[in-house]
Amino acid sequence: MSDVSFETKVVHQSQKNKNNFTSKASPIHQTSSFSFKDLDELEGYFEGETPYLYSRYGNPNTDELGAAVAALEGAELGAASSSGMSAILAGILAVVKNGDHIVACDDLYGGTYHLLDEELKNFGIDVSFVSFANEEEVRKAIQPNTKLLYTESITNPFLRVENISSLVQLGQEFNLFTLVDNTFATPYLMQPCREGIDLVVHSATKYLGGHSDVSAGVIVGKENLIQAAKQKIVSLGGNLSPFEAWLTCRGVKTLALRMEKQSRNAQTVAVMLKQNENISKVYYPEGVSELGNGAIVTIELSPQCDIRTFFASLGWIKIVPSLGGVETSVSYPLGTSHRNLPPEAQEKLGINERVVRLSIGIESEKDIVEQFFQAIEKSC
Ligand code: PLP
Repeated sequence: MSDVSFETKVVHQSQKNKNNFTSKASPIHQTSSFSFKDLDELEGYFEGETPYLYSRYGNPNTDELGAAVAALEGAELGAASSSGMSAILAGILAVVKNGDHIVACDDLYGGTYHLLDEELKNFGIDVSFVSFANEEEVRKAIQPNTKLLYTESITNPFLRVENISSLVQLGQEFNLFTLVDNTFATPYLMQPCREGIDLVVHSATKYLGGHSDVSAGVIVGKENLIQAAKQKIVSLGGNLSPFEAWLTCRGVKTLALRMEKQSRNAQTVAVMLKQNENISKVYYPEGVSELGNGAIVTIELSPQCDIRTFFASLGWIKIVPSLGGVETSVSYPLGTSHRNLPPEAQEKLGINERVVRLSIGIESEKDIVEQFFQAIEKSC
């Protein structure tokens, strides 16, 4: 670049240092676009000779995340997206169109419920919500235009564990696609694609990222369906940034360690809270996997407890409308994740002003239990 001016050099010089090192960690391809040496090379992209053109269409970091989660889930292919919600939308639109019908479980994350109940209506997609705990109800809800069965492997917030094999059978019997949100279980505990589920989505914002520093989503499943979902991500602009994909991949490396410790801690917290007379209900699943039962515990405080005092007395435990980080945190489903559910749906599910969702972290189990017990003692 010696024959160009300084102004030109400052723009181009730093990009000249393409190197051949094999860095241990993946480099971050923080770029909106890829460049080509001539029109033949550009044409080569469209002929499938080179993989990248524009980061919204694809980027090595987002592809790395999609491939990593697909490998963990035992799925054919994966794609990353900007959030759990965009992964869910891409998955649904990959298999459902105007005039179609979805049967969804009624104990879903509130944001998903809203997407299905409100937004999809405007696309001319109809949804019936039924209890997936009762297979007869699911069968009865299936219509001639039903295309998809939608559920969560461990539901939010009451942690019902989905019967994946009977869902797969129902899908096969009625020729329906199956889509499972595996956010709470993570592939550490459950791998629904291996049992025959067509599509699995994650809010990677939660356990896959694991450090509460990214908003990300991943969808994995059968190759043709992921190609279709990826096209939706591209067309709707639901792509994940390269840096957030990189951070999520970094988080995934410790997923097993985190889930092991967090599930173990959660088991202890659930056992201890069950023994506390001021807690009227403890929801914690059983038999999810031989590796554990997950890191979420949902509780209902007894009527004599003051919920505001409970939240204000949690000390180092943060109040956050999310879950899945290394830090123990609590959320208030009625005030956040399930706030926009119709009151009758809240009541049917049991989401009331005394329900608290605990996301158990990696801290010492003794400290976590003590901190919750202190808050209970102050508020009840
Ligand atoms: N699925 C579940 C089970 C969730 O709990 C959430 C968010 O809380 C989502 C999907 C949406 O994920 P995101 O916030 O990354 O869009």
